[in-house]
Amino acid sequence: MPIPSQVISVLEKLKAAGFEAYPVGGCARDFLLGREPKDWDIATNAKPEEIQKVFPKSFYENKFGTVTVLADEMKIQITTYRVDEKYSDKRHPDSVKFTANLKEDLARRDFTINAMALDIFSHPEQISARHPEQVSVCHPERSEGSRDSSLIAQNDRYKIIDPFGGQDDLKNKIIRAVGNPKQRFSEDALRLMRAVRFATQLNFLINKETLEAIKEMNKEISFISGERVRDEFVKIIMSDRAAEGIELLRETGILSIILPEVMEGYGVGQNKHHIYTVYEHNLRALRYSAENKLSLVVRLASLLHDVGKPRSKRGDGPDSTFYSHDVIGAKMTEKIMRRLKFPNEEIAKVSLLVRYHLFYYNVDEVTPSSVRRLIKNVGLENMDDLINVRIADRIGSGVPKAEPYKLRHFRYMVDKVSKDPISVKMLKIDGNDVMSILGIQPGPKVGIILNALFSEVLDDPKHNEREYLEKRALELDKMSVSEIAEMIKKGEERIQLLESEERRKFKV
Ligand code: ATP
Ligand code: MG
Repeated sequence: MPIPSQVISVLEKLKAAGFEAYPVGGCARDFLLGREPKDWDIATNAKPEEIQKVFPKSFYENKFGTVTVLADEMKIQITTYRVDEKYSDKRHPDSVKFTANLKEDLARRDFTINAMALDIFSHPEQISARHPEQVSVCHPERSEGSRDSSLIAQNDRYKIIDPFGGQDDLKNKIIRAVGNPKQRFSEDALRLMRAVRFATQLNFLINKETLEAIKEMNKEISFISGERVRDEFVKIIMSDRAAEGIELLRETGILSIILPEVMEGYGVGQNKHHIYTVYEHNLRALRYSAENKLSLVVRLASLLHDVGKPRSKRGDGPDSTFYSHDVIGAKMTEKIMRRLKFPNEEIAKVSLLVRYHLFYYNVDEVTPSSVRRLIKNVGLENMDDLINVRIADRIGSGVPKAEPYKLRHFRYMVDKVSKDPISVKMLKIDGNDVMSILGIQPGPKVGIILNALFSEVLDDPKHNEREYLEKRALELDKMSVSEIAEMIKKGEERIQLLESEERRKFKV
């Protein structure tokens, strides 16, 4: 994989202006691993004002001390070598100080594999001896404009600046703190999670001393803001090895602090319908979602779908029950995700998936009306996710087949009813119509009549005709509010009855 030409061009410009410049940190690591870096960060001894002189169109963000250059649509961040001063809050350095020394800049970075820089201008002798015609790639002074960046990667025409043994650790697949691990974690406790995150993403092991320091200092993660914890947690969950990542969080003791609710299921046995503990089952469901590259929302719902089980468990052994764990779990999910500062929309979706993950889909009994009511509650746009969570749930229970016939049949049913009216808004009459037909003022009665009409239409979409609905509105008007409410409830209950039969069978 080549270094992008935009990056090379930025490096060359800084070099031509008399400064040092190196791709550094995560991009150097990913480049050496043959992975495509998310972004290319450049470290330089040029001060921000000097960088801006070289790139007049760049912009300088004082807060981060970083100058951003837009090169051919690519955002490249250029940061002056710096050392972090004391950390008194375990989160942010009290101040940052520029330094002229690259090694000092590398020393402030968290892990050896993240503390390397690529020197694309070095080893010219070797290169010129082998490929004299390509020297210009690495030597802007002598360059006549040829900038075929791919040559750099392909011909190893760069030197790696690696004062802390990052290359060896990359080779041996080791995450190791730069310097004294305890000191490094006490400076910024987010590094505890970053260690787990990199070990998960890269399938590396954490070095013994570093791992011991994490275990010893795991409580410090509670000093870190929900947002920063969430960002690392999301990276763990979104990795192909998400389940292994959660397991590593547990082994290091971090899970108990950031997600104590998931830990509640650890070692909690289930009833005779399940072979795994609650925790293991949740993890296996997550593994399925990750292996199938499902979305963040589905992965979170897979991990959390049974999070309510420990709190709803009654009895012990093969006959224990977990009634309402879906409702309890949905509330817990909301609380967890709020704490981790997830966006409201994601919180709503994941809680909804947890709440309805037990949906009923037996071929002979599932009716169009029950499917419409489920879609009304979950949203048509979320039905695929819901089905995926159910499949993850099944696979997480150890069944061999992801999607049996009855689930395929359910999908077919969803498709079939998907054009039917599934929200009050789709009714052929609205609140204003109800008020004018009945000659009543705005008030709770309008809403309840609309809901009763909607309930009838959910049972039979043919009833969504203006004439019929007007006639029914007049009839409903003769009933009391509580009688109408009772009618609506009965409609829901008929569906819920089917579900509760199923639940009774599995004691959930
Ligand atoms: P990603 O692939 O997620 O971007 P990354 O290693 O590039 O991973 P960034 O958060 O983008 O991580 O940070 C870039 C570099 O800055 C890191 O490689 C590391 O050298 C340094 N760094 C980032 N966060 C920290 C931290 N909390 N403590 C020390 N160094 C850090
Ligand atoms: Mg990065």
